[in-house]
Amino acid sequence: DPLQMTPEETPEDRDRALRPRQLEAFIGQAEARANLAVFIQSARQRAEAMDHTLFHGPPGLGKTTLAQIVANELGVGFRMTSGPVLAKAGDLAAILTNLEARDVLFIDEIHRLNPAVEEVLYPAMEDFELDLVIGEGPAARTVRIELQPFTLIGATTRLGLLTTPLRDRFGIPVRLQFYTVEELTLIVSRGARLLGVPCDPDGAVEIARRARGTPRIAGRLLRRVVDFALVEGDGRITRALADGALTRLGVDNLGLDTADRRYLLLLAEAYGGGPVGIDTIAAALSESRDALEEVIEPFLLQQGMIQRTPRGRMLARAAWDHLGLIAPRPADQ
Ligand code: ADP
Repeated sequence: DPLQMTPEETPEDRDRALRPRQLEAFIGQAEARANLAVFIQSARQRAEAMDHTLFHGPPGLGKTTLAQIVANELGVGFRMTSGPVLAKAGDLAAILTNLEARDVLFIDEIHRLNPAVEEVLYPAMEDFELDLVIGEGPAARTVRIELQPFTLIGATTRLGLLTTPLRDRFGIPVRLQFYTVEELTLIVSRGARLLGVPCDPDGAVEIARRARGTPRIAGRLLRRVVDFALVEGDGRITRALADGALTRLGVDNLGLDTADRRYLLLLAEAYGGGPVGIDTIAAALSESRDALEEVIEPFLLQQGMIQRTPRGRMLARAAWDHLGLIAPRPADQ
């Protein structure tokens, strides 16, 4: 089914309870939100499809949520699929021909589109037309199908992997940023309220501080802390309870998890802080290079724990301090 969820989506994400439905209720990303509000209103006033929009940034920052909100605010239908799921040109054609005027089509992981499918997308985005090849060999012919005007919203964790022609066809590129602790605190408090769990302000801050700048992680940590609060506490989320629960879950006081620490420790202990090539790190950790570049490294870079240099990744001072290790002096390296 080309409309199924992406494989990375967990059952918790599918629980819609915490997903904001209006732009007003969406916390953070102030600049993106303000701009989107203008484009949405303008499209409504013109009674036209909004321009094609590309959301890019690390996973869990709200790309899917924002796409749903845009459709909701435009008052149009929302269809969702993802790059790897669209195996054949016909899969995309079937979806495009079913869209109603001004609908939003959301394609997650759009950098993973098969080139044959991407070809179909170009005229669809530009002229709302579809060129379909019917038949094979000398009898093959092309038929042109007119589509309803629609808004494509693409999401990608890897802007650099998008082809230039595809990238150029998005009128509205939006980069999502990691959230501040203050923003995540609001998200956690709102989540606790929606789950009906009492949460001290300090408890919300503790979860927010350790959520890797990411609302999806904040939501997950919140649910786990709620479990501990119910089973081992009196049902209330306090700072001490959140701290104890998160520590037991392997989330340290900066919000780094086991995978982050394995990465940092490898660089520190096996390579004296680097530089180390990304493929070497991937092989040593048995992780895919993509997972390192999309999930683990963006936050470590943002936190100043690692640096990217032409010769590879290097551990920064903050990481040595955080690991409680002594950085080798440059002369020793
Ligand atoms: P992405 O598509 O970027 O991977 P999602 O849109 O699926 O991220 O968001 C991941 C989770 O985080 C969802 O459960 C969503 O409800 C929550 N979330 C994301 N952004 C926000 C926000 N600004 N406020 C509240 N919850 C958010």
